[in-house]
Amino acid sequence: MSQLGAATPAEIRQVGHFINGRVVRGSSDRMLDVHNPANGQVVARVNMADAATTREAIAAAAEALPAWAATTPLRRARILFRFKELVEKHFDELARLITSEHGKVYEDAQGELIRGLEVVEFACGIPHLLKGEHSLNVGTNIDSYSLMQPVGVCAGIAPFNFPAMVPMWMFPVAIACGNTFVLKPSEKDPSVPLRLAELLKEAGLPDGVFNVVNGDKEAVDVLLTDPTVQAVSFVGSTPIAEYVYSTAAAHGKRVQALGGAKNHMVIMPDADMDQVVEGLLGAAYGSAGERCMAISVAVPVGDKVADELIARLKPRVENLRIGDGLAERGLEMGPLISREHLERVSDYVRIGIEEGATAVVDGRQRQFPGLEGGYFIGGTLFDHVTPQMRIYREEIFGPVLSVVRVPDYESAVRLINSHEYANGTAIFTRDGDAARQFSQDIQVGMVGINVAIPVPMAFHSFGGWKRSLFGPLHMHGPDGVRFYTRMKTVTSRWPTGVRAGGEFIMPTMS
Ligand code: NAD
Repeated sequence: MSQLGAATPAEIRQVGHFINGRVVRGSSDRMLDVHNPANGQVVARVNMADAATTREAIAAAAEALPAWAATTPLRRARILFRFKELVEKHFDELARLITSEHGKVYEDAQGELIRGLEVVEFACGIPHLLKGEHSLNVGTNIDSYSLMQPVGVCAGIAPFNFPAMVPMWMFPVAIACGNTFVLKPSEKDPSVPLRLAELLKEAGLPDGVFNVVNGDKEAVDVLLTDPTVQAVSFVGSTPIAEYVYSTAAAHGKRVQALGGAKNHMVIMPDADMDQVVEGLLGAAYGSAGERCMAISVAVPVGDKVADELIARLKPRVENLRIGDGLAERGLEMGPLISREHLERVSDYVRIGIEEGATAVVDGRQRQFPGLEGGYFIGGTLFDHVTPQMRIYREEIFGPVLSVVRVPDYESAVRLINSHEYANGTAIFTRDGDAARQFSQDIQVGMVGINVAIPVPMAFHSFGGWKRSLFGPLHMHGPDGVRFYTRMKTVTSRWPTGVRAGGEFIMPTMS
């Protein structure tokens, strides 16, 4: 049974921290309510770590580091194999926990766990990934090879929108590489990361290798400045990503800080419109638009394409299946994360109308009988959006799709390349030449060709360009391994003439 306690409506979970293999309450008296966004009820109370609790977690990670770094990669991988099995065993419990604090529909919560597990599977291949480079005879009888050694104590700071997947972009690779880790999840949905910590322990991870501190800026600032922490991975909004990057880098740490997004989908006149409409609906409105890879701008090339797109999207957006993901299956969208965010997204819809965009569907007008306590809003579809409007320039992070009409391919590319964000983008076309040229011309980190949400698989790396990423290395995949290891290059020459006797056991046994 989890130390977190049962998640019955009658009982409010008390969420602490996970330090040195134990759930602890923390020394601060500061508590924050965690709400179920589908009904507004408090489901948990999370303790907000102060500097002392955060330092305790860092100290536990530092203490565990030497033994863990010396553990063979094969043994580290075996623990991750067991962890993967445990996540699968508790799949339903974890997915429900995600839905109860985030609000995304149950199937989407399952999808998030699967994407996280794929990174664990990738990290299970760590003995192969740490093989490094080797050159024989760089000079006569001189060899050169690289050692990929752990960086040390690493910290991860995660956003609310993927409480399981984003931490799983980070810690499986970090610990597989021999580092120890302190995770600071989002204070809005803190229960799942703590549960993952318990499962890691159950899988055999030594105490102190993985720690969780819940909290906010107070805890983050310690992680960014404490000299013991060697590397910081961050995912969240651009202003905080920039702050995390500059503060942690100024304190001598390596940093990867992924920020916000405004992702465009170009629809060429020859595109398969069935594919476009289905792709766009999921990409714009899935998870209520609270995805960094959500498409928030559709860019149809030519008015004919734009008119058809609007006509086909309108009835679908009006009738999106929206509801409480714990009560119903087969939903397309749940609520937003909080009442404040609901107000923010509603404000953007008002601003868009004031700016002169055409609200083809105004999500604020949708009614949710029986779900009045929840943070629900319908999908919004704007036509005739221009690049000067705030609803185009700024990240809304809600179920709001803007259509920006352009006359030709070049204008589409110019539009996208002029935006400050550059996380993901997509082009829908049957023309291989246009698609190929687009992938070359576009200044964006992740590109889809007839794929609306081109999230790279775990064995590739995930990351944007421009103000969507601060730091040179993306998450997971080969970049993840590079980020969590330090390369050392050894050049060696041995005196000749001394030959050892035979070895009678397998050297890899010790
Ligand atoms: P956020 O920036 O508000 O919070 C992210 C983390 O930073 C949280 O753990 C939070 O506690 C902490 N934090 C918040 N304010 C802080 C401060 N002043 N000082 C130090 N730490 C602080 O982001 P969010 O609202 O949780 O998540 C949504 C954002 O994340 C969106 O902008 C979205 O695009 C982005 N995101 C980006 C990616 C990506 O891969 N690029 C992925 C997921 C989410």
